[in-house]
Amino acid sequence: MNYSENIYKQLKEAITDHERILIELEDLHSYSFDASFGSYLPEFVVQVKSAEEVSKVMKIANKEKIPVTPRGNASSLSGGPLPVKGGIVLDVSLWNDELLIDPDDMIAIVSPGVITARIDEAANLYGLMYAPDPSSSNISTIAGNLAENSGGPRGLKYGVTKDYVLGLEVVTPEGQIIRTGGRTVKNVTGYDLTKLIVGSEGTLGVITQAILRLVPKPPSSKTLMTIFDDLVRSGEAISKVLSSGIIPSKIELMDQASIIAVEEYQPLGLPVDAEAILLIELDGHPAAIADEIVKVKEIMDMKGARNTVIAESDAEATELWKARKLVSPAIVRTKPTKISEDATVPRSKIPEFFKRLKEIKIKYGVTLVVFGHAGDGNLHPNIICDKREKEEMIRVEQAVSEIFTAAIELGGTLSGEHGIGTMKASFMELELGEHGVDMMKRIKQAWDPNMIMNPGKIFPEKGQKLVLSE
Ligand SMILES: Cc1cc2nc3c(=O)[nH]c(=O)nc-3n(C[C@H](O)[C@H](O)[C@H](O)COP(=O)(O)OP(=O)(O)OC[C@H]3O[C@@H](n4cnc5c(N)ncnc54)[C@H](O)[C@@H]3O)c2cc1C
Repeated sequence: MNYSENIYKQLKEAITDHERILIELEDLHSYSFDASFGSYLPEFVVQVKSAEEVSKVMKIANKEKIPVTPRGNASSLSGGPLPVKGGIVLDVSLWNDELLIDPDDMIAIVSPGVITARIDEAANLYGLMYAPDPSSSNISTIAGNLAENSGGPRGLKYGVTKDYVLGLEVVTPEGQIIRTGGRTVKNVTGYDLTKLIVGSEGTLGVITQAILRLVPKPPSSKTLMTIFDDLVRSGEAISKVLSSGIIPSKIELMDQASIIAVEEYQPLGLPVDAEAILLIELDGHPAAIADEIVKVKEIMDMKGARNTVIAESDAEATELWKARKLVSPAIVRTKPTKISEDATVPRSKIPEFFKRLKEIKIKYGVTLVVFGHAGDGNLHPNIICDKREKEEMIRVEQAVSEIFTAAIELGGTLSGEHGIGTMKASFMELELGEHGVDMMKRIKQAWDPNMIMNPGKIFPEKGQKLVLSE
């Protein structure tokens, strides 16, 4: 019996439903990519449905020293679920049977494959809200969100996934089932392993259950759309709103390239000559937000907005948000490859970051589209390109490197929400320094002595560079 046959035999002993172990090439291909860049074939896919199954698979993998890559719905934009070293892909997406709301403790208890948006919908039935709202919430799993510490437009006011996790069940790389945190809002027993696992990108263990914090659903919201002739001025307007004591639930930005792309995709009557559109949502008590929305409009006017519209009804608000929702599908129509970054800067540096992005776009002659969660400095500079064009991809690599350098020089970070994965690994030292990265590696080594858990992610290999041009 060869090595692969031996592993397959052991997996079949661990998972009694053999239909959930995939080895056919066509199935393996379906698990070879995510929403980022590159494609890698695993040797096995195991679709797990219980912590006991995960534990058995991890014990086999740890004994045989075979890589394991956990996977939700593969919407990652940083390469997290790519099996870059082959081995086993552990698919949790079918494990979506547990979604329990406890309104008294204001918590949700969920299995890893539950789709994020379903949690908020279930909480809404009790007048509660699960606040993290990645734009991919209708396709991403909660396990993927936890592993990436995902955020969304509401992050400006409500924070990101890590702010809503009270406890986890995790299977360690050696196959032990452990619990971190619990159901209480306060918990300071020992090291905070919950926060360590959240955002660890599947490199420290497999999340098999989560206890999530819910908050009261705000009774009402108001939306405003404002148009700027100057991108940098729109950044100044954002900073002014935030320093005036008003914290909107969302401030989303579309730059001129996104506006044009949306108008070409589905005409909505947006001004294609404008440099920026801001969409701002306030939520809370109706009387408070009625007052605040007027103040926000005054700030926009003061900062030179060309035009500002306040939605008078929920239907009108939905119509205004349509423009932002169409950006992603619209921008990919011009060229087939989208390199989606999420470099983030301190709020006060938003205008300066816009200036740097403008310069990078011109310097490298790339199609750079900027949109995203501008209120928390988490912009999404997207480069639209064609990965078959080597010369263009070399310019893209240079532009991406310079975007990261600019964000870090401005006191920001490589990633606000998409994670490091394969795409940003080579820039880790730029932000954390050699010793900072080394401390993280030591934590990894302690959790995963055989280095089998999602290898090839977060930590750069010696001499690793960002390569998009092959
Ligand atoms: C159109 C689009 C819009 C997006 N918008 C946003 C956004 O607004 N905000 C945002 O933050 N992200 C966004 N994303 C990125 C992506 O949706 C998130 O990173 C999401 O959390 C990934 O979830 P997933 O279920 O697809 O996980 P996957 O992509 O399958 O995996 C993501 C990571 O989680 C790990 N993982 C999966 N399951 C487990 C587990 N059980 N235990 C441990 N590790 C595990 C994987 O190994 C991988 O490292 C967007 C993506 C797309 C395509």
